[in-house]
Amino acid sequence: MTRWQRSGLRGSEWLRHRRWDAFRATLREPRDAAALARWRDARLAMLLAHARQHVPLFRQLAPADTTALAANGSLKDLHHFPVLTRRDYQEAGVAGTLTGNMKPERLLDRSTSGSTGERMVIRRTWLEERLLNCFRWRAFRSYGVGRHERIVNALFRSNGDPRDDQRLARLAMALGWRQMLVVDALGDDAAAEKAARFAPHCLTGMTSALASLADASIARSLPLSPRIVVTTGELLTAPLRARIESLGSPIYDLYGSNEFNLLAWECPAGQGTYHVCDDAVVLEVVGPDGRPVEVGQTGAVVVTGLHSFAMPLVRYSIGDLAVRGPDRCPCGAAYSTLMAIHGRTIDMFRLAGGISLHPWTIHNAVRPWLGMVRQASLVQQAYDRLEYLVVATEAMGAAEEAALSAAARAALPVGIGFTLRRVEAIPAGPGGKARPFVALAGLGGE
Ligand SMILES: [Zn+2]
Repeated sequence: MTRWQRSGLRGSEWLRHRRWDAFRATLREPRDAAALARWRDARLAMLLAHARQHVPLFRQLAPADTTALAANGSLKDLHHFPVLTRRDYQEAGVAGTLTGNMKPERLLDRSTSGSTGERMVIRRTWLEERLLNCFRWRAFRSYGVGRHERIVNALFRSNGDPRDDQRLARLAMALGWRQMLVVDALGDDAAAEKAARFAPHCLTGMTSALASLADASIARSLPLSPRIVVTTGELLTAPLRARIESLGSPIYDLYGSNEFNLLAWECPAGQGTYHVCDDAVVLEVVGPDGRPVEVGQTGAVVVTGLHSFAMPLVRYSIGDLAVRGPDRCPCGAAYSTLMAIHGRTIDMFRLAGGISLHPWTIHNAVRPWLGMVRQASLVQQAYDRLEYLVVATEAMGAAEEAALSAAARAALPVGIGFTLRRVEAIPAGPGGKARPFVALAGLGGE
């Protein structure tokens, strides 16, 4: 048995799930929105029929939820399907969420550590992983990152799965089709020097890894000035953006998740929107009733992965809030859009008196002082107390500290305490990410 077969790839997967068709879609961007919608409906019908037939979790759902959808397979009917949460998947167990004949040990593991330490097990085949990466590369190409450009990818540490065969990637590098250097931005003190020496056209990686790379580059006067910076993996907050901007390169943000890989990418034409990757996912922004909110309104992000057959994810609530944008980007691209991404609903603060507060309320209130903040983390310590950990620049004196605190207190409900504490560094949370917002442990809802 070859390594490809062990990792779950079978000839039938290529045929039955029309993988060639999906790979072809990643070669160029769709121009015709109506054709894209028809293609999506066909993929959706195929996915739902597969899930109903082969995956225990979906067999258990009421037939009325899925039968009509699988027959019609249209996005218009998708809201009949229940919104599933991480908890639904955890309760169904690994065996209940995988396609019947798939052996979990043969699949790639893309599980999340979860911002509250709750693990979400994600599995996919080697071929699915390649396909999702092809959509990601298409987004890079939309920023003009071509085969002859050098890329530095800044990560926290290697999190490779030994089953994830990288021979194709190594071959592409050997043939000169891809020139990429991977650096460990936090574990390797010389990461910035290595990155500068490579003279990348494109600098990409985890958002806070890029920010620390930018800090090191400025502090040591390194000649690191890529044509563009592409941030991934974390919310691009204003303080992080300001630090990365010190490199002087334009920044584009990718929005993704472990569950789906790429979800959306910032409009290359500078419209300020995010293009939703409509040919890889169905991304809905929904209200509490599970129906899409109006354009311009904020709702929960609910996603269906059109190419995830090993472990189907249908109307899965990934725990983020976003602002729905126009159904077509003003730049003329055929994609639907998001206007903003507000991060994890799981980090909503549940306060005394049954009040829910989104951390962005505070973030927006203190925005005028964020230029003096290198990094910050808003931590809930009790039902009635928040602490703002701040790594500040020298520009922030006692007067600025007091003004920032007063603005934050004014934005909070009466009776909720707020203190600012200056620290040397923000401790990393589970998964190695420093989190901008930390809700009280055990209170994170879904
Ligand atoms: Zn656009």
